[in-house]
Amino acid sequence: MAFHPAALLKLLPLTVLIPAAYIGRGHISSLGDELRIILDSLPYLLCLIVMLMSLQFQRGRLLLAAVSVAAFYWVVQHYLQTSLNRNTDALQAYLVLSFTLPVIALYLLLLPERGIWNLQGLIAFLGFILLALACIQLGPRILDINDAATSAAPSSNDVYMLSKGTSTLAGLTALVGIVLLCIRNEEIEAALLGAILPVYVALAFLHVEYISVSMCIAASLSLAWGLLRSSYSMAYRDELTGLPGRRALNERLKMLGNSYSIAMIDVDRFKRFNDTYGHEVGDQVLKLVASRVRSVKGGGTAYRYGGEEFCVVFPRKGVEAALEPIEKIRDGIASYKMSIRNRSKRPARMKEGSRLRGATRLGSDQVSITISAGVATRCPDHPDPDSVICEADKMLYKAKRKGRNRVAYSS
Ligand code: GH3
Ligand code: MG
Ligand code: MG
Repeated sequence: MAFHPAALLKLLPLTVLIPAAYIGRGHISSLGDELRIILDSLPYLLCLIVMLMSLQFQRGRLLLAAVSVAAFYWVVQHYLQTSLNRNTDALQAYLVLSFTLPVIALYLLLLPERGIWNLQGLIAFLGFILLALACIQLGPRILDINDAATSAAPSSNDVYMLSKGTSTLAGLTALVGIVLLCIRNEEIEAALLGAILPVYVALAFLHVEYISVSMCIAASLSLAWGLLRSSYSMAYRDELTGLPGRRALNERLKMLGNSYSIAMIDVDRFKRFNDTYGHEVGDQVLKLVASRVRSVKGGGTAYRYGGEEFCVVFPRKGVEAALEPIEKIRDGIASYKMSIRNRSKRPARMKEGSRLRGATRLGSDQVSITISAGVATRCPDHPDPDSVICEADKMLYKAKRKGRNRVAYSS
């Protein structure tokens, strides 16, 4: 199971969103009545937009998260605009929210994304409803049994209102969310965390004026942002390698200026490799090559062109500047020994393995692969990206003809 600590960078917008919402809250009282009425309805409106977009993009978890944020805001507006000490309904509502919130958050974080309009989507929705109903019943009792003494009657002077039990659950939820984000490396996990944390802030500092409206706006914006980001990566990222795909490359090519170089990279003898070790191992190889190509230096950006072909775009670079980083990648891949994880996929007969000559070789559990590349630059003969790609492709086949595991270029 791969772990991607860099996925935590997806939480960066949160570090802006929550403080901005907190600061913005301080200015709400200076707004006119009409604006304030609009602002009061804004969390509902934003949640509704997220719900409609989630339905459109088949994002079941974001849909349920938006429903949860809207429901949280509704409960706060209808039951919690009064002192908890004097009003038992308010106290009850607070305890329900304190328990329901982390449980629902954990459910949404752990739930695999299976879309909306299918059986799994329906089961996920029913699970959500049942869990919410169970929490509404159980919440006050469980918190009573625990250390409800502090949470049950938070005095209006307390700034931080959550009980130890709820704080622990909240911390656990955040931890699970962070671990899942690093494992799955998906925008949805970041968006869910981005909704859960502001809602917690609202619950923990409920006495602070306008905290619920500002934090619920932040939560729904986070969901909307996650939805847009995940739709973007669905359209522009290649699922297997995580690299930007052909569509992203086409967009990038439109924006190139007058000076650029392009490298086309192709894995050598890959069909034979697939036939020998199976598609699954072939996919592992593609991921490995992609991870090397992704870290290309020299200002290049890598794309998966299709199949076992990759493309690297070097804006504002001549052919010499592009050659060195590509040569480094080629060399790094050629000298890397890859262990085959699935032993059953090794060739049945060693004879078959030793039949593999040239670029792809077998040595016990380890295989090595090679790539060939062609590099071309913009020039009067190749004045646009398509013709530069075409020329780089010609160079690639020149490298193949010359024996593979090499880089050819036209200057
Ligand atoms: P050459 O050195 O001339 O490039 O030979 P090659 O075998 O790599 O070239 P060819 O174009 O004949 O074969 C490409 C193969 O790549 C065909 C297909 O089996 C494999 N392939 C394409 N896309 C994928 C993929 O997503 N996963 C896997 N595992 N294999 C793929
Ligand atoms: Mg090919
Ligand atoms: Mg190939």
